[in-house]
Amino acid sequence: MHKKLIRQLEKQGLSADRVPDHEQWRVFLDEVSARYRTLSRRVKRLERTTREQLGSFSRLEETLQSRLEAILYAFPDLLILLDEDGVNLEILAGDRDILYRPAHKMLGRRLDEIFEPEQARVFMEVLRRALASGQMEILEYELDIRGEKRHFEGRVLPAGYELGGKRTLLYLARDITDRKESEAQRRLLDNVLDSANEGIVIVAPDRRVLYANEAVARITGYSVEELMSAGEGFLRHPEDQSLCDEVCAIAHASDHFSREIPLHHRNGGTTPILLSLNTIRNAAGAIEYFVGVLADVSEIKKTQQQLEHSATHDVLTGLPNRLLFEERLTHLIPRAQRERRTGAILFLDLDRFKMINDSLGHGVGDELLQMVASRLMGACRGQDTVARFGGDEFVILVEDCAGSAQASAMAEKILAVFREPFRVQSYDLNISTSIGITLFPQQGRQAEQLLKQADAAMYAAKAAGRNGYRLFAREYLESAIAGLTLENELRHAIEHEEFELYYQPQYSLSSGRISGFEALIRWNHPQRGLVMPGAFIPVAESVGLIDEIGLWVFQQVCRQVVDWAQKDLDFGRLSFNLSQRQLMETSLADMFMTLLEGTGALPHARRMECEITESLIIKQLDVALKTIHRLKETGMTLAIDDFGTGHSSLINLKRFPLDRLKIDREFVRDIGRDKNDEGIINATLALAQGFELEVIAEGVESELQKAFLKEIGCHEIQGFLMSEPLPAAEAERLLRETLSK
Ligand code: C2E
Ligand code: MG
Ligand code: MG
Repeated sequence: MHKKLIRQLEKQGLSADRVPDHEQWRVFLDEVSARYRTLSRRVKRLERTTREQLGSFSRLEETLQSRLEAILYAFPDLLILLDEDGVNLEILAGDRDILYRPAHKMLGRRLDEIFEPEQARVFMEVLRRALASGQMEILEYELDIRGEKRHFEGRVLPAGYELGGKRTLLYLARDITDRKESEAQRRLLDNVLDSANEGIVIVAPDRRVLYANEAVARITGYSVEELMSAGEGFLRHPEDQSLCDEVCAIAHASDHFSREIPLHHRNGGTTPILLSLNTIRNAAGAIEYFVGVLADVSEIKKTQQQLEHSATHDVLTGLPNRLLFEERLTHLIPRAQRERRTGAILFLDLDRFKMINDSLGHGVGDELLQMVASRLMGACRGQDTVARFGGDEFVILVEDCAGSAQASAMAEKILAVFREPFRVQSYDLNISTSIGITLFPQQGRQAEQLLKQADAAMYAAKAAGRNGYRLFAREYLESAIAGLTLENELRHAIEHEEFELYYQPQYSLSSGRISGFEALIRWNHPQRGLVMPGAFIPVAESVGLIDEIGLWVFQQVCRQVVDWAQKDLDFGRLSFNLSQRQLMETSLADMFMTLLEGTGALPHARRMECEITESLIIKQLDVALKTIHRLKETGMTLAIDDFGTGHSSLINLKRFPLDRLKIDREFVRDIGRDKNDEGIINATLALAQGFELEVIAEGVESELQKAFLKEIGCHEIQGFLMSEPLPAAEAERLLRETLSK
């Protein structure tokens, strides 16, 4: 019997081994019945509560489920359950649009069946790491989703339970493409702002710097961090405090302003800054912040100054130009008048500058001009203006001079600074200048008129033989106007290279071959056509232009010699004419030397010959001799032109290092007509033989003359019988023809 039943029986005074009486049995049964009733009531109650609890539990479950679903539905990231082998078990949630493959192609597959090998390897590596550490692992990667490159951030963490005996992991993938793009954009913006030349600042109304780019740091000398941490605005320098107050006051009062400020750099020194401030307000109109742009305008200011400078100054020498000179002069004239003082204008034109420029190149010419400029500056006082009007014209404005005597002294001083040769590159250049002077207000009160006068005086100085000065006189203007037409035309001709050399061949009487050429100048006048030397050489000599023309001729001759030598043409000898005035020029030999070097003709100098006339030798014996000797040192030969017309004495001739006599065409003309002239030719030949000189006869027009000259032993002839003077190309053609015969 159950021990509980035994105990109940005992409570009723019953026992199993004793038969109960009727009463005891009834009490016992009542008791049992009552207990059953209570029990069944309890059971019923229990059933009820259990039912109720079950109901509320399933309701709770439903709520939780739908909440979870709502959360997962709203989940932007992709949540995937994987096992430790990388098999996709379930896509738990997320935006399926960012799935690499449609869900059905991913589920149940391993990562390496889904992704490219390299990508799969990276994923697996991260899974392994997460499993090993038990921690979340994060990675970033890119995937092509339907042809579009997207950036992802992946988070992997062990799920903490096993499925089918394998550990599981949760994989959370988030599309961060937009974030990446905005990061890139932000970086780009930062780069732009930091590489901007202009400083950009954003300042709070209480002056705190909210943002500053690198340029602000550069301009101010304070680092971006310093600027942003101090809360003192971007005008940090103690010296800029009052400026800062002022700027703030203006910024608060107006929504935009811009002005130039002298901003102090941390290390001292100021930079001119163009500061533009814009006030940014919120919808309510309250100031939110100020945006400032700081532009360093020092370069702009410098270029501005340079521009101003170059408008009023000569680029090459840095001297004031005509504009500035005239401005100063216009200022000075009334002042000189008021204060009863005298001013002077010295107008300089370098002698034969063009020759140097043309033969040695513009580089040398430019350097020479710069040296001239600095020597002139050295010769003048600080308050005087030395200007360059262009080319080789320099003009000096002397503010205060006692009168013509002091102006002349000044001119002397300037002439003196030209005495030393100018060492340019490897050349020692001897150059002089001609100076015209005019005084104001005595000689004029108009700038333009004064300059004209000084210019006319300068021409007078040139005509008088250069390397000198002239004080302006009325007649200079008149003579200048009268003589100016041809002179001006000649100047123009020099400037525009209207000259041309013709070449007349010379022949050896023994071989009949070309033995040389004489270079003869022609002027291709724009209106008058070809002008012969007789019509302009004497004028050029009298106005002092022959030097310049002569140098041009020599330069051309040098070039021709080099040209023919380079073409390997045996032209024999190339002679050219020197005018009286040229030989009187002490610097002629230097000039010729410069030209020989400059053109590369120096090695061919022995094939070049100077022709000078007798009369010349007699007139300027000493000067001419010196020059002639120097010319001969280069290897050039020397001929006496027009021999027989100048009554040269034997003694004089002996003093010259001559190589050749040129019998004048006057004598040749009379061969066969005038026995006297024939006698002169004979005597000349005898004389020449005595001095061991070669003889050439010019102006040979007939066979008779030729025969006579050959007969008496003349070496060479030149004349229309053989050929007229020819342009270079034709002379060359003739030479080639005769050489090929
Ligand atoms: P020149 O040096 O005595 O030159 C010879 C002149 O005689 C040349 O005249 C030439 O054309 C001319 N001529 C040559 N063959 C004959 C001929 O068979 N018959 C005649 N009637 N004349 C002949 P062009 O070219 O008119 O030159 C005249 C002068 O001008 C030259 O005389 C020379 O003194 C001078 N001249 C020429 N070129 C230059 C130069 O480059 N510099 C200098 N300073 N003077 C030059
Ligand atoms: Mg001649
Ligand atoms: Mg002659």
